[in-house]
This record gives sequence, C-alpha cells and structure tokens, in this order.
Amino acid sequence: MTNPALPILHTIGGGSAHGLHHYMGWAQCPRKAVLDAEAAEAKVANSATNSATNVGSIAHAYLEHYYGPTHGESSHALQFSGHVAGDPDVSEAERLFRAYRKKFPRDELGLVLGVEVELPGELPAKERILNSIGIYPFTCKIDLVTEIDAKQAAHLKTTRDSDIEPGIYVIDHKTAGRRMKNEPEKWMHHKLQMKTIQLMWNACNPDRPCKGALVNLIYRRKEVGFETVVVPPVDSLAARQVQVFFSGIAELQRTLYDWPNFLACYSSYGTVCRYYETAQCRRL
Ligand code: SF4
Repeated sequence: MTNPALPILHTIGGGSAHGLHHYMGWAQCPRKAVLDAEAAEAKVANSATNSATNVGSIAHAYLEHYYGPTHGESSHALQFSGHVAGDPDVSEAERLFRAYRKKFPRDELGLVLGVEVELPGELPAKERILNSIGIYPFTCKIDLVTEIDAKQAAHLKTTRDSDIEPGIYVIDHKTAGRRMKNEPEKWMHHKLQMKTIQLMWNACNPDRPCKGALVNLIYRRKEVGFETVVVPPVDSLAARQVQVFFSGIAELQRTLYDWPNFLACYSSYGTVCRYYETAQCRRL
C-alpha cells in the first residue's frame, strides 16, 4: 500500500509582498517587484524559475520534512508543485538530500524549535520590528531554528568542523553549484539576509535572542559537498546598515510606489525582464 501524499512544503515560487526579497527587488525595479507580488498573491507560477532554483526549492522541502513534524514519514510521499517523481530536478534534489541525511543525523543541529518559521506571525511586535528593521509591515520565513547545548556544540566541531557556541541559531539552507571565493566571508559579513533574519528573530523573541545564524551550504557536485558558515550576532554597525536600507525603501515607496525603472530591464547576465518580454509592463 502506498503512503498518502504529504502536503507540498517549501514554497516553490512566489513570496511575501512584505518580505526581504520583495524589498530587495523593489530597490532594483519597483514595478517588477509589485508585479511579482501581484502574481504571488494570485498564485501564478513564476515561469522565470530555472533548474538550479527548482532543485534548491525541492531540496529545501526535503530538509523541511527532515527537521519537521512529518520526519517519521517516508519522504517518497512528498508532493512538489509542478514536479513529479522522475523529474530531473526532483531526482537531483533527492540525491543532495540523501547525501545530507547520511552525513548529518537529524538531532545533530540541536533541539528543533521550528521549521519554516514565519515571523512575526501573530506576535505583537510592530514597534520592535520598526525600531529594529526600519520598515513595517515586514515578514520573513526562517528555514530552521534550533537550540544547541554545550554537548551538541562540541559535537558540531566533529560533524561540521564549526566552532559554535551554545544557544539559539537561525539557520538558512543553501544549495550552490560551486563554492565561490571567500564563501564564508561573504555570508558572515556581506549578506543582508543573514543580518535581517537575526534581527527579526530577536525583535519577535526579545526574551530568547539568537546567538547567531548558520548557513547550511550544500554543493551540487558529483560527490555532494557540505559547508557550515557561522554568522556572528549582528553588531551595531550592521544593524544600522539594515535599518538604513529598509527605512530608505519605506521613504521612497511613498513617492515612487510602482515606478518602472527601465534601467533594470536587461541584466548584465544577458537576460531580459519577463514583464518586458510579455508586454505586461505597460507603463514603460
Ligand atoms: S520591463 Fe523593465 S521597467 Fe518594466 S518591470 Fe521589468 S525591469 Fe521594470
């Protein structure tokens, strides 16, 4: 007898109209960010996704299942929006997940406090989010939150070659085709996302601040590679940078709303905005 299908887990395509990626996209082209948000609201599949993005999203779903409450059930029953068993992207994501599961036992990252944690959720944190992030509404979804005790922290030195202090960590899974030069440095100090999810967690959980963030990297090599980057707590300078970025966007949104930035239609990678190609950007 086959298992009943488990629900689709990690969001494939689309995102919040008040999330990090929306605001970062808005900084490039307000019109595109607004059209993306409208499409996500209407649950229109993003046709601009590519194989690497699909593999990343499906691998996230496997990891959500692994660390989440359905972990005892077979991952074969997972359903992926628009993808079926045997699809090359599903097969590749499954290969990554199998390698991950073999190397890292489920309890190795500490006590799971939540998977796909949506903030602020129902928490009354408006003032703290405004003071910390600089914009409201603001939402984020954190892949995994765990609490690591001293014994587990010592063990992580063996399993992940990482120096991790005991405490609460916000964790983001990443899949990548190759390791970039200075990969740890990039995540530790130069990624808005890794600062913002820490500030959001702390704003929504002032009595349980995080000790930092972990980037759980999975490399899509012939032999799957792994790397864990420990991102330090947000210092005052980085916190100010986050605030300036988002409060600046909030200020601009009041006057520009969905201004079409025609300088963003062609990317330096040779791609063209899909709203240009489909003539959906009618105000251009
Ligand atoms: S076509 Fe250009 S101006 Fe219009 S949404 Fe796309 S990037 Fe923005």
